[in-house]
Amino acid sequence: MLKIAYSPLFNHAVPEKHRFPMQKYDEIPKRLLAEGTIRPENLFLPKKLSESQILTTHTADYWQHLKDLTLPKKDARAIGFELSHALFERERTIAHATYECALFAKQFGVSLSTSGGTHHGFADHGEGFCVFNDLAITSHLLLNQGLSQQILIIDLDVHQGNGTAHIFANDKRVFTFSMHGAKNFPFRKQQSDLDIELADDTGDDEYLTILDKNLPMLIKTVAPDMLLFLAGVDVLASDKLGKLALTQQGCKQRDSLVFNYAKRYQLPIAVVMGGGYSENLDDVVEAHCNTFRIAKQIFNLD
Ligand SMILES: [Zn+2]
Repeated sequence: MLKIAYSPLFNHAVPEKHRFPMQKYDEIPKRLLAEGTIRPENLFLPKKLSESQILTTHTADYWQHLKDLTLPKKDARAIGFELSHALFERERTIAHATYECALFAKQFGVSLSTSGGTHHGFADHGEGFCVFNDLAITSHLLLNQGLSQQILIIDLDVHQGNGTAHIFANDKRVFTFSMHGAKNFPFRKQQSDLDIELADDTGDDEYLTILDKNLPMLIKTVAPDMLLFLAGVDVLASDKLGKLALTQQGCKQRDSLVFNYAKRYQLPIAVVMGGGYSENLDDVVEAHCNTFRIAKQIFNLD
């Protein structure tokens, strides 16, 4: 069965002035339901991370500051959101959704969250609208319980997964692969296990050729038993921040390529949304919806 994480919190706990790009979190399931790609039974309401789950990845000090709303101003500014207890409830739910998707992926092959991909979260601080690192927490929870021995993170958001790279810099059990814009945020990059930097205006053909060359090679050399896929759609030409030049079709082919390899090598794949900042919200929602449509089709789930 296709299991999809959705919580109204994904959108509604976001401070008003940041609401626009977050509306997609409601629009994605709405569109998929309306067109009949999914049924209400496909959606599940994620739970919330516990304190001990947060502490698998984040420092006690950082968590204490968040809980008490005493984060130093500089650190709060780096996150970019106005901090509040409501926001942390949201972030805890987003990260737990990713973990639950990983568990469902083990059962059904693929599972997707309508949110997630907070890859700028470091162990001791947050950046770029990311408080907790959902991919890192999920990886730690899977490893700690023996549910996975080797994870491959495929981060195709246009921004480097700097937090994830830093967290797993000395941990071979999680291989971090990030393909991103060379001249984009974060301007001081961390070192992933494999970074592929793309020039501005990279288009479909070049992008897909690079990905198609590297992904099977990684699957063979890393030998993962679990894939975490950050399917950011800020790679689109229409994106205001992305600087790349993928078409909707190219973005769709990217997702097909990843899902096809996951299926061929029988690797469970949990998918999170990441960024998308096209002027027209419809472009963002359509590209994200394609990820769900293709997953459903390739894995042949009801
Ligand atoms: Zn991004």
